[in-house]
Amino acid sequence: MAHKRVLVKFSGEALAGEAGHGIDTQILKFIAQEIKSLVDAGVEVGIVIGGGNIIRGVTAAQDGIIKRTSGDYMGMLATVINGVAMQEACEHAGLEVRMQTAIKMEQIAEPYINRKACRHLEKGRVVIFAAGTGNPFFTTDTAATLRAVEIGAEVIVKATKVDGVYDKDPMKYSDAVKFDEIGYDQALQDHIKVMDDTSIALAKDNKLPIIVCDMFKEGNLLDILKHGNMQNCSIV
Ligand code: UDP
Repeated sequence: MAHKRVLVKFSGEALAGEAGHGIDTQILKFIAQEIKSLVDAGVEVGIVIGGGNIIRGVTAAQDGIIKRTSGDYMGMLATVINGVAMQEACEHAGLEVRMQTAIKMEQIAEPYINRKACRHLEKGRVVIFAAGTGNPFFTTDTAATLRAVEIGAEVIVKATKVDGVYDKDPMKYSDAVKFDEIGYDQALQDHIKVMDDTSIALAKDNKLPIIVCDMFKEGNLLDILKHGNMQNCSIV
């Protein structure tokens, strides 16, 4: 099945590359090319990027010096840093891009306005949704699911390092078994690692399918979203 409008979520960690932190421009370039292949095929693309390569609220607040709420705002700012970088990479690849932030910072990006975002998408522009939901105690997975529902995306794609949902961590266990399909309820019951419970519950309430796939396999996004090849992914 070919999709018209999708929301792709990348984790911040994915941008870090070998270094484990910061932003690897070669990875940005690769992601931008993958996104471009979708846009060239007529798919409208929204993007949410995490901030884990820079800072996470929980980690920042670990020893009690920084409050969790402040740590979370730091995390949301990290997603803006990644968003600016992603915007540059997409433009470098020849795409038209707009970034919208859940927390106003108008010198850097537009504020999130749903109708405006939809208009950009209709015009073939990629829209990057940054600063998460704008609220502490949420994740960018939840922000991505929320934006996907808001913009009427047909599917949310969680682009990760693994090629789907497994019964246990495939990085640790060689006998881990991949699910081609897993129901929302089972995903919630099993607390699958690739997506947090809040985002799965939100997707379930809105009947939004979640595709979990390997972002580093070249052509994978296009294969899944345009050609309906579901071999290298799982669907929730
Ligand atoms: N965050 C938040 N509210 C949101 C989204 C994100 O407070 O709606 C903060 C939170 O501290 C989180 C950090 O931003 O740890 C970075 O996002 P996330 O951990 O989801 O990034 P990823 O793991 O995808 O890189």
